[in-house]
Amino acid sequence: MKAIAVQPGAGGPDVVSRPVPEPAPGEALVRIHRVGVDGTDYEVIEGTHGGVPDGDDRLVLGHEAVGVVEDPNGTGLEAGQYVVPTVRRPPPGVETNDYFERGDPDMAPEGEYVERGIVGAHGFMAEYVTSPAAYLVPIPDELAPWGFLVEPISITEKAIEHARASRSAFDWRPESALVLGTGALGLLTAAMFTETLGYERVYCLGRKDRPHPTIDIVERLGATYVDSRETPVDEVAAAYEPMDVVYEATGHATHAFESIDALAPNGVAALLGVPTDWTFEIDGGRLHRDLVLSNKALVGSVNSNRRHFEAAIDTLAALPDWLLESIVTGIYGLDEIERAFPSATAPAATTDGGSGVGPDDDTTIKTAVEFMPI
Ligand code: NDP
Ligand code: ZN
Repeated sequence: MKAIAVQPGAGGPDVVSRPVPEPAPGEALVRIHRVGVDGTDYEVIEGTHGGVPDGDDRLVLGHEAVGVVEDPNGTGLEAGQYVVPTVRRPPPGVETNDYFERGDPDMAPEGEYVERGIVGAHGFMAEYVTSPAAYLVPIPDELAPWGFLVEPISITEKAIEHARASRSAFDWRPESALVLGTGALGLLTAAMFTETLGYERVYCLGRKDRPHPTIDIVERLGATYVDSRETPVDEVAAAYEPMDVVYEATGHATHAFESIDALAPNGVAALLGVPTDWTFEIDGGRLHRDLVLSNKALVGSVNSNRRHFEAAIDTLAALPDWLLESIVTGIYGLDEIERAFPSATAPAATTDGGSGVGPDDDTTIKTAVEFMPI
């Protein structure tokens, strides 16, 4: 079978040949339909995040997948059922650990998990994959074409759950939200705030000139576009309003701290970005004081668990088609993977703590690779 693999830090991804995997007891064989590409894939390609499985020099990419059960192998799944695989698995040679047993693999510390397609385990960019049935989440047939968006949506389901939990000790009534970043994660999250979470006022911060498709999406959602070049994050509260929630999806490290200024009293900022090292000056005393005296919270969040995938499937069903069609700017077959990874062969280093890779033409928002048409 064909798969898409990469040698991290040594160039772009290639189509390789691999044997069709045999499902072990408890595992099903899944034929992959589509797999999404995101910023994390570029970090893996560049070699700044993740890594190959022990004993291998290449990693099969892909962690945002949807496929169809080819062989249930006695697991209780049904042949022909569409499924979305979750990403974390126990480390090699370990059947389970406390985090996986409790259903909280997303809370496992480093060393207590691998992530398929990211770190220590091959991913889903292959014609066939196997997985324990417990990590395969059924998705209705009509949502399968967009099923590769379930994983990124699940990232926000988790982050919002944790942000809310941090405010659960009092009668919190959030109305305003600021999303930092107009990449796929930022736009999907802005849509969740306006369409499914019911926030009254939503703002989305980017750094694009008008006219731009991402600004059109933000405005069609009824949200307000904020240009960070005119209004930096720490000036948003004064220029617009102090925010009940900030959701950081830029990976721009100063934003984590500037978010404290953007928050209203009692607000919470969820931090999602994964920047490289970057040293800069902040007035730590002032920010510390503000966090304390205004009851503010900062919550870091990574990955997601099966519950978040299930919630994400409901969210996906509620998001309008125009939005999904606008965010997914291209779906490509194996014969044109360079279009699915437009900047993978020419990563540009940055000095601002960002990953330096990402879609290189200005209109690509999110792409996917199609292994099998429906
Ligand atoms: P993208 O790279 O597609 O999006 C990042 C966006 O942030 C881009 O639109 C970029 O703008 C924008 N941006 C960066 N710096 C600034 C700035 N100073 N002002 C305004 N906008 C800025 O990534 P994704 O949407 O896929 O992911 C977002 C972040 O979340 C990444 O850091 C990623 O690593 C992280 N992530 C974290 C996960 C987790 O579990 N915690 C899971 C998935 C992703 P431009 O296009 O102009 O560069
Ligand atoms: Zn992803």
